[in-house]
Amino acid sequence: MTKTAVVIGSGIVGLCSALRLAQAGWRVRIADPRAPGEGCSAGNPGGVSVSSILPAAAPGVVKKVPGWLLDPEGPLSIRPTYLPRLAPWLVRFLRASSPDRYRQGMENLYALTRTAQGAWIDLLASIGETQTLRRDGHLIVYRSREQFDVETASWQRRQKLGLNIEEIDTDDLAALVPALSAEYRLARKVLDNGWLVDPLAVCRSIAAQLAARGAAFERQAVQDLAVDASGRPRLTVGGREIAADLVVLAAGAWSARLARRVGDKVALQPERGYSVTWDKPGFSVPMPVFSPSEKIMAGPTRGGIRFAGTAEFTGFDSPPNWKRAEALERLGRRMFPGLTKEIAGERWIGLRPSTPDGLPVLGPSRSSDRIIHAFGHGHVGVTTAAVTADIVRALAERASPTIDLAPYDPGRFSSTLG
Ligand SMILES: Cc1cc2nc3c(=O)[nH]c(=O)nc-3n(C[C@H](O)[C@H](O)[C@H](O)COP(=O)(O)OP(=O)(O)OC[C@H]3O[C@@H](n4cnc5c(N)ncnc54)[C@H](O)[C@@H]3O)c2cc1C
Repeated sequence: MTKTAVVIGSGIVGLCSALRLAQAGWRVRIADPRAPGEGCSAGNPGGVSVSSILPAAAPGVVKKVPGWLLDPEGPLSIRPTYLPRLAPWLVRFLRASSPDRYRQGMENLYALTRTAQGAWIDLLASIGETQTLRRDGHLIVYRSREQFDVETASWQRRQKLGLNIEEIDTDDLAALVPALSAEYRLARKVLDNGWLVDPLAVCRSIAAQLAARGAAFERQAVQDLAVDASGRPRLTVGGREIAADLVVLAAGAWSARLARRVGDKVALQPERGYSVTWDKPGFSVPMPVFSPSEKIMAGPTRGGIRFAGTAEFTGFDSPPNWKRAEALERLGRRMFPGLTKEIAGERWIGLRPSTPDGLPVLGPSRSSDRIIHAFGHGHVGVTTAAVTADIVRALAERASPTIDLAPYDPGRFSSTLG
């Protein structure tokens, strides 16, 4: 008899997982009050960033935080009244920033991103999408030799892990990205990286394929999750209780409450980011361009050039602080002076599902191996959605995943170190 899987959340992680389950013969139901892809997966620049493996909890970060918080255009913002709620997460974040845990975190992230491009190529090919993944690399740009050198050790570490990087001098940079401000003198090109040209459209294509395969979409939130005496998951959706042979919890930043209902206490916070997209910027960029000093990514998407960045910890319900988007616009115009004030960009916010150690929560629940957690992908949810989906399918089929899942274990937060 065909078994039923319920996927909670139709973000990029839930959709990719649902697709892989449907392709493996599961009858799939997807529950989400939002339309597919309209959570955090919509307005990001779509970077498939194999090199994004540096956990934010880095040694020395504690010294940088005050400066970032005081700078209204800085990359980090915390609402003071939210601090008491954030404190336990912050304590874990600081513990994760020891040199050993940072190095380990980098390796554990790389274990996921290493095969990200291949996993995306396979997944997109399986639904006939061949034009949505570009594989032309990313540029990391610097204003000075000093800024470039500050990052050398970290890039060397990543090269040792297997990443392919080219150094670009001033003339080549100007030729490669003529629209970039001449303030930028040097760059690194990360050859392994790529991007989805329209992440929301990818979500919608996957949803359409799922519907064509008979998957059911329920535009309702899952209100409760439980396990019955035989270990079978039970869900409450729209006031009705339903049973399933398998549940995949992929509700992004909103996953912690449901995980707790089945005994998995996870440290997860919504980390708000902003993007601004100019549909007619008047110039093009050949690949995503990242400026580490401002922590801004400028990505060429199908809808135009998209600037994205900012990490804001303010909880779920605080209204957007559009001053952050204005700061992105100002910094974007500084990077690309061709973006004149007369052209307005389209603003967006998204809640990254962020764990203190920067690793996703990926693996079976402690209460039942029929509940698979697949959330907490933070800054690399687009990058690792297809890899995650392959892991979810392996776990669903009780096969061995291709990587050791111990570092992403949902139970890791129960230890005092987690
Ligand atoms: C500014 C910005 C730039 C970014 N850039 C990149 C990038 O370049 N590369 C990259 O890899 N990542 C990037 N990210 C991160 C990436 O966008 C996220 O990691 C990813 O979208 C998370 O996907 P998700 O499916 O887990 O969550 P979401 O897309 O948020 O989906 C979760 C879904 O769960 C649903 N849900 C919530 N509660 C319930 C419930 N009770 N029942 C049912 N459904 C529920 C929500 O409605 C939502 O649709 C960026 C993020 C931001 C904000």
